[in-house]
Amino acid sequence: MGIKAQAIELDSVTVDGVDLPPQWNRIFEPRPIRGYDLRAFTDATAVAGAESLAYCFQCGKCTGVCPVNAVGDYSPRKILRRLQLGAPLTESPDLWLCATCGNCLRVCPKLVDMISAVPALREQALLDGWAPKELASALESSARYGNPLGESPRRRADWARSAGVPVKVLQEAGAPVDVLWFVECYPSYHPRGRDAAVALARILHALSVDFGILGPEERCAGDSQRLAGERGLFEQLAEQNIRTLAQYEFQTLLVTDPHAYNAFLHEYPRLGGVYHTLHYTQFLAQHLPQLPLRREVPARVTFHDPCYLGRHNGEYEAPRQLLSAIPGLELVEMGRSRAQSFCCGGGGGGMWLDGFAQDHESSRLSEVRVLEAIETGAEILAVACPYEVPRFEDAVKSTGSAGRLKVMDVSELLALSMGLGPAGAEA
Ligand code: SF4
Ligand code: SF4
Repeated sequence: MGIKAQAIELDSVTVDGVDLPPQWNRIFEPRPIRGYDLRAFTDATAVAGAESLAYCFQCGKCTGVCPVNAVGDYSPRKILRRLQLGAPLTESPDLWLCATCGNCLRVCPKLVDMISAVPALREQALLDGWAPKELASALESSARYGNPLGESPRRRADWARSAGVPVKVLQEAGAPVDVLWFVECYPSYHPRGRDAAVALARILHALSVDFGILGPEERCAGDSQRLAGERGLFEQLAEQNIRTLAQYEFQTLLVTDPHAYNAFLHEYPRLGGVYHTLHYTQFLAQHLPQLPLRREVPARVTFHDPCYLGRHNGEYEAPRQLLSAIPGLELVEMGRSRAQSFCCGGGGGGMWLDGFAQDHESSRLSEVRVLEAIETGAEILAVACPYEVPRFEDAVKSTGSAGRLKVMDVSELLALSMGLGPAGAEA
């Protein structure tokens, strides 16, 4: 599942009766390049986590799939070549363009792991003062307020007032729950994120799920800050969340955000936080027979696979099962979908680097994706990551596509079919 690939180096291997030495998978050590200063290359590959950059043998497979290469002069192959020629990566804008989408690792024959290398080198660049200024405010807000939007932690549960159904805040309720819903930042604070949170609260209520939220006690899961190079900040946020979660009894940790899903699956366990974690589309797909999807939603819909739900963690079916169950809805696929899905550009800190990326790319990745969605003839672009509604709605406007494509979270489409309208009353 997923693409957490690791190089497996056997002690020895015999192929067609021929014994190969243990470094059989290292058939091409970095060639001795004469006439170039290799210090930048040696320094970068010496950074813990970035060692695999040295395995690159310049085949170029990554260039064809890297979304940033579609809008700029960038791919692992290209930036590694520049590094080999002596340009330090930690001082280059290249380092901040990767959205950690994982598509290069999917195809790289040498397992050059940008998901590990890029955050490690960014950490170094942050220490050396080379980070884009734009990123600093999201990181500072995350440290100060526990969310990248700079909102007050006290207001984290305010969205629930407009849900029209009871939403238990655990600090006040004090009783065990079956499901602890980790709402995350954009569904708590961003106006369009809140719409999706309200829709999901109503669906959970209609299913009679015993759920509660942390409200003011919740902090950002921190995965995007980690991938942006701030591992220390990630650990600070994660440790605080783990301490808070330890105070409550629950069976399932339900997350709205694929980035939080990734963190709870792969990063929190290293810090002692082990939970039965489900993305909301997985949880609802398990309850599909109980979902009263009575109303028709007569629309052609295409689904954008979030990188951190799909490619990174292998979940492609749950959102499609939910959408396909909505009566009247016709699900159509974009040319690039599932494992080959095109990134929205929001991952790995990209959510907070749009202005910076604009200086180095011909258009935003979200704009490319919106045009792909329109090409299918879809009227609605369905999403399952809180970064995506605001990103794609902006892209619809900036590509002059207003009125041609609506962006809706899967939970909003389900609520529509269940008759759970904006007024909060079941029709
Ligand atoms: S696919 Fe891997 S080995 Fe090939 S150029 Fe890209 S990083 Fe290098
Ligand atoms: S992780 Fe994605 S954005 Fe980053 S280099 Fe690889 S393909 Fe390009």
